[in-house]
Amino acid sequence: MSHRPIPVFRPLLEASEFEAVRQALEMGWLGMGSYVGAFEAACAERLELGTRKAVAVSTGHAALHLALAVAGVGPGDEVITPAFNNVADFQAILALGAAPVFCDISDETLCIDLEQAETLISPKTKALIAMDYDCILCDHDQVARLAQNRGLRVVHDAAHAFGSRYQGRAVGSFSDIAVFSFDPVKTITCIDGGLVVVRTEEEANLLREMRLIGMGQPSTLMYQNRRAWTYDVTRLGFRYHMANLHAALGLSQLSKFDHIAETRRWACRAYSQALAGIPEVRLPASGFEEVVPFLYYIRVPSSRRDDLRTFLSARGIDTGIHWQPGHWFSLFRDCRRGDLSVTDRVGHEILSLPLHSGMDEGDLHRVADGIRAFFYR
Ligand SMILES: *Cc1c(COP(=O)(O)O)cnc(C)c1O
Repeated sequence: MSHRPIPVFRPLLEASEFEAVRQALEMGWLGMGSYVGAFEAACAERLELGTRKAVAVSTGHAALHLALAVAGVGPGDEVITPAFNNVADFQAILALGAAPVFCDISDETLCIDLEQAETLISPKTKALIAMDYDCILCDHDQVARLAQNRGLRVVHDAAHAFGSRYQGRAVGSFSDIAVFSFDPVKTITCIDGGLVVVRTEEEANLLREMRLIGMGQPSTLMYQNRRAWTYDVTRLGFRYHMANLHAALGLSQLSKFDHIAETRRWACRAYSQALAGIPEVRLPASGFEEVVPFLYYIRVPSSRRDDLRTFLSARGIDTGIHWQPGHWFSLFRDCRRGDLSVTDRVGHEILSLPLHSGMDEGDLHRVADGIRAFFYR
């Protein structure tokens, strides 16, 4: 029996996205322009940023690179990051000539183990990356306390947490510096895109220059689809701006964010119900109340995971692995680290199931039935 394949990710692309892209192309100003200004404003509203500033960039990786630069990270510095994190974070640290220091995670939340993080602080430590893993957020109050006590900057990698709330407060609205990604698989996509949220106009202006290869021309002018031909260059910069076309797509996605959030929450709750009671399967400890889930992950015995992936794949069900921990990669093998035993275990157990807005009850039950069939065959 052959089944329609169920991909692990699928962006919600409807008539409105195609129309938004067509309009942006017809306007003919393809680089950074009015759509980027509108996208930043719409994100600021959705994320309840208040007086904080949102600066859109080309990718989440670019956002991390610039966020760490604004935090003052430079050659010889150390940045503490969970080893269980996206490669983009590790590479952004390296790009500044700094060194990642790998910290373990909590077995419950899969977010950084703050007790261990404190023991890893050295005179070289400049910043801490607090990454929300999917549907359970970091203990951000504790992160802020630790950073304040030890004089560290915090880069909150909120790529998984767009639209989520922490103790009633919108993610992005309370951190030292917060970073989002809109890559093709994220909760909302711009094809590729990122966002940095900072507290002050001064830091926002630094970001605006650095994303435009250091050109000190006003973003306000570019948001009128115009550019200055004369300007000064005073600092290192990168070609990291967001393009109008991408912002147009992002605006269309934002306009249906409530639907995207609700369908994802519904699917996660349905998974947790359908998968409850299988002894080998550990579910995320979340009721998905205050969060907009980016993934639905399960943990299974490491000796069975790859066979389970193959079994599901034969039934047309795609799965993913988020992630291989940082210290498993050749490039990061020698980085300073704490005891990473939770990370090592989770790295072998974790499995991402299909999650997107287009899934119906039938898809969900095919996935859940496949998992049951594997463990009870
Ligand atoms: C996706 C992701 C990134 C990188 O974002 P890109 O837009 O793909 O560069 C960084 N951190 C986390 C936690 C992510 O999930």
